[in-house]
Amino acid sequence: MKIILLGAPGSGKGTQAENLMRDYGCPQISTGVLLRKAVAEKTEIGKKVEEIMARGDLVSDEIVLDLIQKSLEQIDDQIGFLLDGYPRNINQAKSLNLVLESIDRPLEHTVLIDVDAEILIKRLSGRRTCSSTGKTLNIYFSPKKEIDDCIASGGKLIQRDDDNIESISKRIEVYGEQTEPMIEFYRESGILQVVNGEGSIEEVYKRLLSKIN
Ligand code: AMP
Repeated sequence: MKIILLGAPGSGKGTQAENLMRDYGCPQISTGVLLRKAVAEKTEIGKKVEEIMARGDLVSDEIVLDLIQKSLEQIDDQIGFLLDGYPRNINQAKSLNLVLESIDRPLEHTVLIDVDAEILIKRLSGRRTCSSTGKTLNIYFSPKKEIDDCIASGGKLIQRDDDNIESISKRIEVYGEQTEPMIEFYRESGILQVVNGEGSIEEVYKRLLSKIN
């Protein structure tokens, strides 16, 4: 499968990408994950992007294109790929088209996971990762038992650097200004599939599968 998952921050792209990876075996390429890794490892790129990411802006198109090209090169032609968090503006969408054309791997699905802005803010501001299991939890939505289990196992609830309210507002604003016009570009070209991203992870995944199968 060759698929792009589009959606605002907090729409559940990463979560649904994990479901697709599990069931279809196609590797996930998430520019956000790759960039956070670069920051954690304090690479040259990591140092360049750390501040930009913490305030919720987009990093340069050149940096993310390079990450995408290198990741695609490492993936076997036969198993497809799943892009999560890329592209995020019209320029990136055009670059991606050129890259995929040059390696003769056309996209099969471009799916938007659609979620209301108010829900996005709660999902992002409540998002935590359990430091002992790595599991993503939400202080507003996760069952109390899951949160208690994390703490009982000695884990801490870690918040992402850009999940504070200023960065969340900025990321949602950037999404409206830069990503939504790109989504229109896909919609006008007739290839956009839209999935309602509200409800449980399983419900959204079922809707997603019904679109792509
Ligand atoms: P994400 O994990 O997808 O929410 O991305 C976290 C942050 O990484 C974003 O707020 C941006 O600062 C940066 N980022 C991720 N993907 C891109 C992209 N395609 N273009 C520019 N910046 C990106």
